[in-house]
Amino acid sequence: MLSCISDVALYKSSMNPKTETQNTSVAKKTRITVAYGDGIGPEIMEATLNILNAAGAQLEIDEIEIGEKVYKDNVSSGIRESAWESLRNTKVFLKSPITTPQGGGFKSLNVTIRKTLGLFANVRPCRIYTPFVESHHPKMDMIIVRENEEDLYAGIEHRQTNEVVQCLKLISRPGSEKIIRYAFEYARSFGRKKVTCMSKDNIMKLTDGTFHKIFDEISKEYPDIATEHKIIDIGSALIADQPDIFDVVVTSNLYGDIISDIAAQVAGSVGLSGSANIGEHCAMFEAIHGSAPDIAGKGIANPSGLLNGAIQMLVHIGQGDIAEHVHNAWLKTLEDGIHTGDIYNENFSRKRVGTKEFSDAVIERLGQTPTQLESVTYKDAKSQDLTNLFKKEKPAKKELVGVDIFIDWDEADRKPDAIGEKLASLAYAGMKLKMITNRGVKVYPDGKPETFCTDHWRCRFISAEPAEVAGSIPVTFDQLLELQKNVSTVFDIIKTENLYMFDGERGYSLGQGE
Ligand code: NAD
Repeated sequence: MLSCISDVALYKSSMNPKTETQNTSVAKKTRITVAYGDGIGPEIMEATLNILNAAGAQLEIDEIEIGEKVYKDNVSSGIRESAWESLRNTKVFLKSPITTPQGGGFKSLNVTIRKTLGLFANVRPCRIYTPFVESHHPKMDMIIVRENEEDLYAGIEHRQTNEVVQCLKLISRPGSEKIIRYAFEYARSFGRKKVTCMSKDNIMKLTDGTFHKIFDEISKEYPDIATEHKIIDIGSALIADQPDIFDVVVTSNLYGDIISDIAAQVAGSVGLSGSANIGEHCAMFEAIHGSAPDIAGKGIANPSGLLNGAIQMLVHIGQGDIAEHVHNAWLKTLEDGIHTGDIYNENFSRKRVGTKEFSDAVIERLGQTPTQLESVTYKDAKSQDLTNLFKKEKPAKKELVGVDIFIDWDEADRKPDAIGEKLASLAYAGMKLKMITNRGVKVYPDGKPETFCTDHWRCRFISAEPAEVAGSIPVTFDQLLELQKNVSTVFDIIKTENLYMFDGERGYSLGQGE
C-alpha cells in the first residue's frame, strides 16, 4: 500500500490546470492563488512558501486578501469579487486559516468557498509519526473523506418562536453518491482494503438513513473492498481508542468535521494535518486547524499542517517530484527531533523551535529522506476522473398526503389537550388532525403529563378518509391552503412542511411515540 500521505496523488482531478509534467526542471510555472489569512496564517504561509521556493516549486503566486480585514470593510462574505476572479482563473487555492467573526451577519468564509467552488470532497489523511511525535496509537493510518457541501452546513437557520430556533439538515442523493463513490474510488486506486461509513441513522432515519442506504447500494459496485457501517457516536469513540482498525472513512459534513479533529489530535497534533478540498473545477488546500489567535504573532506556530496541504497541492498540479522532496525533508526534520512547541516532548524531541527555525530546518534537509519513518514517493501518482460520480435517477411518483403545520402557542399553561381540542375543532373538511408533537415527541392525543413542552408545536393533518396506512391518501394543495387559512384565524403559523409519499414510501418521519 502507498503511504496514506502519498495517497494524496488521488487528489489530482481530471480538470487540472496547466502544468502536467512531474519533473523538477518544469520550466512552466503554475499560477496558484494564495491567501495569507488571519491569526497565525501569515506566519505559517511565509514558512511554507519559503520551503516550496527552496525546493524549486514552479509557482506563480496570485495573492488575495480574505477574512478579517475584508469582513471589517463591511464585506459580509469575507471575500471580494476580485478574489473570486483569481480563483476562477487559477483553479488552485493555497489558503491559510482565517478567523470567522462571532455572531450573526457573517457567513463562514470557508464554507462559502467550498460550496461556491463545488469542492465536494474534503480528504484528510491522518497518519502517526511515532516514535517522533507522541501518540498512543502506533499503527494509525486512516483517510477521512468528508462530504463538504451539504448537511447542517447549508446554514439555513430560523428563529421560529420565542424559545425555539432551527437548523435545516439537507442530505441529497447526488451529494451522497458523489462522496461515497469518491471514497470507494479512492480506496480502490490506492490499495486500501476497507471503507467505513459513519452516520446516525438510528435517529435520523430519512437524512442519515439516505446516506447509509446509498452507501450500501454503492458498496455492491466494489466487491473487492470490505465495508462496514458504524453509528457516529461509537465510531468517534473507536477513532479515539482504536484508530488502527480504520482504513478509509466516509461520512457527512458535520460528523466528518468532528472526527477529523479527533483523528488529527489522536495522531499527535491538529497542527500537523493538511487537507484537500476537491471539486470538478477547482481545488483548495489548507491546514485543518484554525487561525489559533491565542498564539498569533509569537512565531511559535507549527507550519506543518499548511505544508502538508501544500504538498497535496504540488501533487495535484503535477509537481509530484517537488512534493516528494519536500515531504521527505519534513519527515527527516520530525525524525531529527526538531519540533515546534505543540508537539515538543522531552522524551521524543531534541530541540524546541519556532516557526521560522522549523522551516529553515526543513530547507536544510531538502534532498534527504527519513531513515526510520517510511519515506514517501509520488512517482505513481494517479489522477481520478471526477465526472461520473453520480447517476441521475428516474424521479419517483410523488403524492401529497398531508401537512405538518408548526404553530407558536404559549397559552393555557401549554396543555397539549387544550391546543389539540381547539385544532381538532378547526380542521377543514376533508382533513383531520392526526397528532401534535412538541420537539418531536407526541403530546396529543394521549400525551404523557411528564413531557416538557416549549412554545413550538408541530400539528400533523392528513386526509379525513379512513386509511389502512395512516397518511397515505392523497390530498390536494387547495385543501392544504383552506386548512391553513382556517388554522391561521386562531393560531400563529410559523411554517408548514408538506407530507409526501414517494413511490408509495413514506417521505416523512413519524413523531416519537406516534
Ligand atoms: P484552532 O485550530 O485555531 O486552535 C485550537 C488550538 O490548537 C489552539 O490552542 C491553538 O493554539 C492550537 N493550534 C492550532 N493550530 C496550531 C499550529 N499550527 N501550531 C500550534 N498550535 C496550533 O481552533 P479555534 O481556536 O477553535 O479557532 C480559532 C479561529 O479559527 C476561529 O475563528 C475559527 O472559526 C477559525 N477556524 C478556521 C479554520 C479555517 O480557516 N480552515 C478552521 C477551523 C477554525
